[in-house]
Amino acid sequence: MSGTRETHHFQAEVKQLLDLMIHSLYSNKEIFLRELISNASDAADKLRFEAATDDALYEGDADLHVFIDVDKDARTITVRDNGIGMSREEVIENIGTIARSGTREFFQQLSGDQEKDAHLIGQFGVGFYSAFLVADRVTLTTRRAGLTPEHGVRWESRGDGEYSLETVRREARGTEIVLHLRQDADEFLDPWRLRSIIHKYADHIPFPIRMKSASGDKKDVETVNQASALWTRPKSELKQEDYVNFYKHIAHDFDEPLRYLHQKLEGKYEYTLLLYLPRHAPFDLWHADAKHGVKLYVRRVFIMEANEDLLPRYLRFVRGVMDSSDLPLNVSREILQQSPAMEAMKKGATKRVLGLIEEMAGNRDSDDYRTFWQAFGNCLKEGIIEDAANRERIAKLLRFASTRCDEQTVSLEDYVQRMVKGQDTIYYITADSLAAAKHSPHLEAFREKGIEVLLLHDRIDEWWTAHLNEFEGKKLQSIAKGELDLSSIGEPSDTDKAQRERNRKDIEPAIQRLKEALGERVKDVRISERLTESPACLVSDQFDISTNMERILRQAGQEVPAVKPILEINPDHELVKRLARMRTKEKINDYALILFDQAVLAEGALPEDPAGFVKRINALLSA
Ligand code: ADP
Ligand code: MG
Repeated sequence: MSGTRETHHFQAEVKQLLDLMIHSLYSNKEIFLRELISNASDAADKLRFEAATDDALYEGDADLHVFIDVDKDARTITVRDNGIGMSREEVIENIGTIARSGTREFFQQLSGDQEKDAHLIGQFGVGFYSAFLVADRVTLTTRRAGLTPEHGVRWESRGDGEYSLETVRREARGTEIVLHLRQDADEFLDPWRLRSIIHKYADHIPFPIRMKSASGDKKDVETVNQASALWTRPKSELKQEDYVNFYKHIAHDFDEPLRYLHQKLEGKYEYTLLLYLPRHAPFDLWHADAKHGVKLYVRRVFIMEANEDLLPRYLRFVRGVMDSSDLPLNVSREILQQSPAMEAMKKGATKRVLGLIEEMAGNRDSDDYRTFWQAFGNCLKEGIIEDAANRERIAKLLRFASTRCDEQTVSLEDYVQRMVKGQDTIYYITADSLAAAKHSPHLEAFREKGIEVLLLHDRIDEWWTAHLNEFEGKKLQSIAKGELDLSSIGEPSDTDKAQRERNRKDIEPAIQRLKEALGERVKDVRISERLTESPACLVSDQFDISTNMERILRQAGQEVPAVKPILEINPDHELVKRLARMRTKEKINDYALILFDQAVLAEGALPEDPAGFVKRINALLSA
């Protein structure tokens, strides 16, 4: 009973993706099999999960498996599963569109570098389309478990922008995909080649992958993969290579992971962890709906893709499996989420992941931590905010650039060890780039006294610093905030003390005039303890938000109440001394505005009236 055949058009992104895939991934063709097996295995997982509450879905056949066949004469490969299958709507939704958000960013990230792009394609979850790497025509026939045979669906496409859809009768539940191979894909007609790909990517899929027997009777079928859940096997039986291959399978990654842990925990609750730290960030790490990478199993049955119930959000880059022996199989996700067993597992996993990261960070000779920090450092900073219980541990893992080191390798422990005599505060500055931080006038007095300052230049630095008030009993303090007194720290300053005092006295009367000239622009004008070279800088009050933070919020389109800065001036600077000697109101006004706008510029921002600024500077230069 076949229905009429309809033609549908692919969503524009799908078409674009298909073109791209065929042109950029031709040397990685073999991944098509990994992707199709992975989908078949997901489908088996889903059926097993649904059947836990509705046994009838098995339709008398609970032997979940994948069958792969080659027909040399017809030049086809068939991948067949008896998993959950798809309804007509599901086919349209899953195979005709890319539902995930962030498609545009995905395309932007593609580099033209095949190897890199291949990583992305796997992670983006567009695996099914990789069939067109080897096929110029793909036919998918499927029936959703639980629907009657009349509800079969046949989908077919040449990968050219449209696909056809037809209702067909299908006795067998599940999905069958027939690949009509391209001329240049002959190598995949060799069953041995397919077997070796299956070993490479799918040995640890917990379902049997079967093929016709290689020798003897063609009717014999044999299981090609190991077909046992890797994490349930004893560590002593497993080689590094097994762990790496399993990682590549679950993370859709071509690279090896940085580290992994495999532990069976037996206490009040019993669970197994197999968790990996990847080498690079997935494309969606910073999307609000970023995919979490840990899967929850209950006694080997897949329950759900991970989310914040399994690991805290800041550890969303972790990949792997958590398998609980205590949770019930057939309850709703909502109930699962509230169970103490789940809570305990989350806590235990968090602790062990942090341990794994610490171990890597502790090894000074290894580049791995640097790689890790580059990819996921900003996630750990989120952890300072999100995970109060582990705040101290996470703080030790942070790495920064500082006035001593351009690269982000300085830890808070390093910093504290290097503090100078009399110093009891950890100083940092936030800016919107390393260059802006490094050249900030606020650093001058610190440089002169040999006090190290951490240079923070990521957006998130404005947030986490508000949550970490101290480290090992040392206060953290922004050098662009509040009043500063460095007089009891480090080396005495080079400038003659008596001369400084005189300069201060001279400038005091000018301060009132500056305040009048700047009016509403500033909260206050005062003499600076930070400056040695620049004439002026802006600082925030200790409990106001910083000017950098204000800028970030504005750029993000948020309404921010205007926070007035404090203008600090350097009494030893020639420009400031000159100002102190001025008498005409107009000249003082111009000078005051120049000082103010310069300080704004030094923060990496623009003066309110750039043209006016230029005019005043020109007048000064030609005076
Ligand atoms: P992903 O697996 O990351 O979701 P794919 O492009 O590989 O992306 O597959 C898209 C979707 O198509 C899957 O999420 C699934 O809903 C559906 N699908 C693909 N293959 C099968 C299959 N063999 N059985 C059931 N559903 C499938
Ligand atoms: Mg897939």
